Amino acid sequence: MGFTFTTADYADYLQRAAARIAAQKDYVSALDAATGDGDHWANLNLGFGALLEQADALRGLGFSAMFRKIGMTLMSRVGGSSGILYGGGYQAAGRAMPEGSEATLPQLAEALSAMLADMMKRGQAQPGFKTMIDALHPAVGALKEALESGEGPEGALSAMRRAALAGAEATRGMEAVKGRASYQADKGVGHLDPGAVTMAWQLDELGAALLGKGAA
Ligand code: ADP
Ligand code: MG
Repeated sequence: MGFTFTTADYADYLQRAAARIAAQKDYVSALDAATGDGDHWANLNLGFGALLEQADALRGLGFSAMFRKIGMTLMSRVGGSSGILYGGGYQAAGRAMPEGSEATLPQLAEALSAMLADMMKRGQAQPGFKTMIDALHPAVGALKEALESGEGPEGALSAMRRAALAGAEATRGMEAVKGRASYQADKGVGHLDPGAVTMAWQLDELGAALLGKGAA
Protein backbone atom coordinates (compact mmCIF):
# COMPACT_ATOMS: atom_id res chain seq x y z
CA MET A 1 0.00 0.00 0.00
CA GLY A 2 1.28 3.47 -0.87
CA PHE A 3 1.11 6.68 1.09
CA THR A 4 -1.84 7.07 3.43
CA PHE A 5 -2.77 9.47 6.20
CA THR A 6 -5.18 9.19 9.09
CA THR A 7 -7.81 11.29 10.84
CA ALA A 8 -5.23 11.83 13.61
CA ASP A 9 -2.88 13.34 10.98
CA TYR A 10 -5.72 15.57 9.81
CA ALA A 11 -6.45 16.66 13.39
CA ASP A 12 -2.75 17.57 13.70
CA TYR A 13 -3.08 19.61 10.52
CA LEU A 14 -6.10 21.49 11.94
CA GLN A 15 -3.98 22.44 14.92
CA ARG A 16 -1.18 23.76 12.70
CA ALA A 17 -3.59 25.74 10.53
CA ALA A 18 -5.32 27.18 13.60
CA ALA A 19 -1.98 28.33 15.00
CA ARG A 20 -0.90 29.88 11.69
CA ILE A 21 -4.14 31.83 11.42
CA ALA A 22 -4.21 32.83 15.09
CA ALA A 23 -0.75 34.38 14.74
CA GLN A 24 -1.76 36.61 11.79
CA LYS A 25 -4.56 38.72 13.25
CA ASP A 26 -3.18 42.13 12.25
CA TYR A 27 -2.06 41.09 8.78
CA VAL A 28 -5.29 39.39 7.73
CA SER A 29 -7.52 42.00 9.35
CA ALA A 30 -5.65 44.71 7.43
CA LEU A 31 -6.06 42.81 4.15
CA ASP A 32 -9.81 42.53 4.70
CA ALA A 33 -10.02 46.15 5.85
CA ALA A 34 -8.47 47.23 2.55
CA THR A 35 -10.89 45.34 0.29
CA GLY A 36 -13.76 44.23 2.56
CA ASP A 37 -15.17 44.86 6.03
CA GLY A 38 -12.18 43.78 8.12
CA ASP A 39 -13.71 40.72 9.79
CA HIS A 40 -12.16 37.85 7.83
CA TRP A 41 -9.51 37.02 10.42
CA ALA A 42 -12.05 37.14 13.26
CA ASN A 43 -14.43 34.89 11.32
CA LEU A 44 -11.85 32.26 10.47
CA ASN A 45 -10.09 32.37 13.83
CA LEU A 46 -13.40 31.76 15.58
CA GLY A 47 -14.04 28.79 13.31
CA PHE A 48 -10.65 27.20 13.90
CA GLY A 49 -11.02 27.84 17.62
CA ALA A 50 -14.30 25.92 17.56
CA LEU A 51 -12.61 23.05 15.69
CA LEU A 52 -9.83 22.87 18.28
CA GLU A 53 -12.42 22.64 21.06
CA GLN A 54 -13.79 19.58 19.24
CA ALA A 55 -10.39 18.08 18.46
CA ASP A 56 -10.84 14.98 20.60
CA ALA A 57 -14.30 14.25 19.18
CA LEU A 58 -13.02 14.83 15.62
CA ARG A 59 -10.10 12.43 16.10
CA GLY A 60 -12.52 9.66 17.00
CA LEU A 61 -14.50 9.86 13.75
CA GLY A 62 -13.88 8.31 10.33
CA PHE A 63 -12.89 10.73 7.56
CA SER A 64 -16.30 11.25 6.02
CA ALA A 65 -17.97 11.99 9.36
CA MET A 66 -15.02 14.11 10.47
CA PHE A 67 -15.18 16.38 7.43
CA ARG A 68 -18.97 16.67 7.66
CA LYS A 69 -18.70 17.63 11.33
CA ILE A 70 -16.04 20.23 10.50
CA GLY A 71 -18.41 21.62 7.87
CA MET A 72 -21.36 21.79 10.24
CA THR A 73 -19.26 23.52 12.89
CA LEU A 74 -17.92 26.10 10.45
CA MET A 75 -21.38 26.67 8.96
CA SER A 76 -22.91 27.33 12.37
CA ARG A 77 -20.08 29.16 14.13
CA VAL A 78 -18.41 31.28 11.45
CA GLY A 79 -20.08 34.43 10.18
CA GLY A 80 -19.72 36.02 6.77
CA SER A 81 -19.25 34.48 3.38
CA SER A 82 -16.43 32.27 4.60
CA GLY A 83 -18.64 30.39 7.09
CA ILE A 84 -21.10 29.42 4.40
CA LEU A 85 -18.43 28.61 1.83
CA TYR A 86 -16.17 26.55 4.12
CA GLY A 87 -19.18 24.97 5.82
CA GLY A 88 -20.69 23.80 2.55
CA GLY A 89 -17.30 22.94 1.09
CA TYR A 90 -16.28 20.67 3.97
CA GLN A 91 -19.63 18.91 3.94
CA ALA A 92 -19.23 18.22 0.21
CA ALA A 93 -15.65 17.04 0.79
CA GLY A 94 -16.93 14.76 3.56
CA ARG A 95 -19.30 13.06 1.15
CA ALA A 96 -16.27 12.30 -1.07
CA MET A 97 -13.95 11.05 1.70
CA PRO A 98 -13.82 7.37 2.75
CA GLU A 99 -15.82 6.19 5.78
CA GLY A 100 -12.74 4.81 7.51
CA SER A 101 -9.96 6.63 9.32
CA GLU A 102 -7.33 6.24 6.59
CA ALA A 103 -7.14 7.97 3.19
CA THR A 104 -4.88 8.18 0.15
CA LEU A 105 -3.73 11.27 -1.74
CA PRO A 106 -6.01 10.53 -4.74
CA GLN A 107 -8.90 10.41 -2.25
CA LEU A 108 -7.79 13.75 -0.78
CA ALA A 109 -7.63 15.20 -4.31
CA GLU A 110 -11.21 14.02 -4.96
CA ALA A 111 -12.42 15.51 -1.69
CA LEU A 112 -10.72 18.86 -2.35
CA SER A 113 -12.25 18.81 -5.85
CA ALA A 114 -15.69 18.32 -4.32
CA MET A 115 -15.00 21.18 -1.89
CA LEU A 116 -13.95 23.42 -4.77
CA ALA A 117 -17.02 22.57 -6.85
CA ASP A 118 -19.36 23.21 -3.93
CA MET A 119 -17.72 26.55 -3.09
CA MET A 120 -17.81 27.70 -6.72
CA LYS A 121 -21.48 26.80 -7.03
CA ARG A 122 -22.52 28.25 -3.69
CA GLY A 123 -20.60 31.50 -4.18
CA GLN A 124 -21.19 31.72 -7.93
CA ALA A 125 -17.48 32.34 -8.34
CA GLN A 126 -15.04 31.26 -11.03
CA PRO A 127 -11.23 31.24 -10.93
CA GLY A 128 -9.99 34.79 -11.53
CA PHE A 129 -12.76 36.47 -9.51
CA LYS A 130 -10.27 37.39 -6.72
CA THR A 131 -11.58 35.04 -4.02
CA MET A 132 -10.45 32.05 -1.97
CA ILE A 133 -11.18 29.99 -5.11
CA ASP A 134 -8.00 31.47 -6.63
CA ALA A 135 -5.89 29.55 -4.10
CA LEU A 136 -7.92 26.32 -3.97
CA HIS A 137 -8.47 25.86 -7.72
CA PRO A 138 -4.80 25.85 -8.78
CA ALA A 139 -3.86 23.76 -5.73
CA VAL A 140 -6.36 21.02 -6.61
CA GLY A 141 -5.23 21.14 -10.24
CA ALA A 142 -1.56 20.84 -9.30
CA LEU A 143 -2.19 17.98 -6.86
CA LYS A 144 -4.21 16.00 -9.41
CA GLU A 145 -1.75 16.63 -12.21
CA ALA A 146 1.20 15.59 -10.07
CA LEU A 147 -0.53 12.39 -8.94
CA GLU A 148 -1.57 11.54 -12.51
CA SER A 149 1.97 12.03 -13.74
CA GLY A 150 3.25 9.59 -11.14
CA GLU A 151 4.79 11.99 -8.62
CA GLY A 152 5.30 10.61 -5.14
CA PRO A 153 3.73 12.19 -2.04
CA GLU A 154 6.60 14.64 -1.60
CA GLY A 155 6.35 15.99 -5.15
CA ALA A 156 2.55 16.00 -5.22
CA LEU A 157 2.06 17.77 -1.89
CA SER A 158 4.84 20.25 -2.66
CA ALA A 159 3.17 21.07 -5.98
CA MET A 160 -0.14 21.61 -4.17
CA ARG A 161 1.48 23.96 -1.63
CA ARG A 162 3.32 25.99 -4.27
CA ALA A 163 0.24 26.37 -6.46
CA ALA A 164 -1.92 27.52 -3.52
CA LEU A 165 0.57 30.19 -2.44
CA ALA A 166 1.17 31.38 -6.01
CA GLY A 167 -2.59 31.50 -6.58
CA ALA A 168 -3.11 33.72 -3.55
CA GLU A 169 -0.27 35.99 -4.69
CA ALA A 170 -1.88 36.29 -8.13
CA THR A 171 -5.04 37.82 -6.61
CA ARG A 172 -3.09 41.06 -6.15
CA GLY A 173 -3.53 41.91 -9.82
CA MET A 174 -7.12 40.66 -10.14
CA GLU A 175 -10.30 42.73 -10.27
CA ALA A 176 -12.89 41.38 -7.83
CA VAL A 177 -16.06 40.06 -9.40
CA LYS A 178 -17.64 38.55 -6.24
CA GLY A 179 -17.50 39.48 -2.58
CA ARG A 180 -17.17 42.87 -0.92
CA ALA A 181 -14.07 43.92 -2.89
CA SER A 182 -16.24 43.99 -6.03
CA TYR A 183 -18.19 46.94 -4.58
CA GLN A 184 -15.07 49.11 -4.51
CA ALA A 185 -14.22 51.53 -7.31
CA ASP A 186 -10.79 49.93 -7.90
CA LYS A 187 -12.20 46.37 -7.45
CA GLY A 188 -9.38 45.70 -5.01
CA VAL A 189 -6.63 45.82 -7.65
CA GLY A 190 -3.23 46.06 -5.96
CA HIS A 191 -4.42 44.24 -2.82
CA LEU A 192 -4.24 40.54 -2.00
CA ASP A 193 -7.60 38.87 -1.39
CA PRO A 194 -7.71 37.90 2.31
CA GLY A 195 -9.76 34.76 1.70
CA ALA A 196 -7.26 33.54 -0.91
CA VAL A 197 -4.36 34.17 1.48
CA THR A 198 -5.93 32.21 4.35
CA MET A 199 -6.98 29.40 2.00
CA ALA A 200 -3.39 29.16 0.74
CA TRP A 201 -2.06 28.97 4.30
CA GLN A 202 -4.44 26.12 5.08
CA LEU A 203 -3.30 24.17 2.01
CA ASP A 204 0.35 24.96 2.78
CA GLU A 205 -0.06 23.64 6.32
CA LEU A 206 -1.97 20.59 5.07
CA GLY A 207 0.84 19.68 2.70
CA ALA A 208 3.46 20.27 5.38
CA ALA A 209 1.55 18.28 8.00
CA LEU A 210 1.02 15.28 5.73
CA LEU A 211 4.64 15.33 4.57
CA GLY A 212 5.98 15.58 8.09
CA LYS A 213 3.51 13.20 9.70
CA GLY A 214 5.03 10.93 12.24
CA ALA A 215 8.25 12.94 12.07
CA ALA A 216 7.64 14.97 15.23
P1 ADP B 1 -17.49 38.63 4.32
O1 ADP B 1 -17.02 38.97 2.94
O2 ADP B 1 -18.94 38.22 4.34
O3 ADP B 1 -17.15 39.69 5.31
P2 ADP B 1 -15.19 37.12 5.18
O4 ADP B 1 -14.59 38.45 5.46
O5 ADP B 1 -15.09 36.11 6.25
O6 ADP B 1 -16.71 37.29 4.75
O7 ADP B 1 -14.52 36.47 3.91
C1 ADP B 1 -14.12 37.25 2.82
C2 ADP B 1 -13.51 36.35 1.77
O8 ADP B 1 -14.50 35.43 1.29
C3 ADP B 1 -13.04 37.09 0.54
O9 ADP B 1 -11.72 37.56 0.73
C4 ADP B 1 -13.13 36.05 -0.56
O10 ADP B 1 -11.95 35.28 -0.64
C5 ADP B 1 -14.23 35.13 -0.06
N1 ADP B 1 -15.47 35.31 -0.81
C6 ADP B 1 -16.36 36.29 -0.68
N2 ADP B 1 -17.41 36.10 -1.52
C7 ADP B 1 -17.14 34.97 -2.22
C8 ADP B 1 -17.81 34.24 -3.25
N3 ADP B 1 -18.98 34.61 -3.72
N4 ADP B 1 -17.22 33.10 -3.70
C9 ADP B 1 -16.03 32.70 -3.21
N5 ADP B 1 -15.35 33.34 -2.25
C10 ADP B 1 -15.90 34.46 -1.76
MG1 MG C 1 -15.17 40.33 5.70
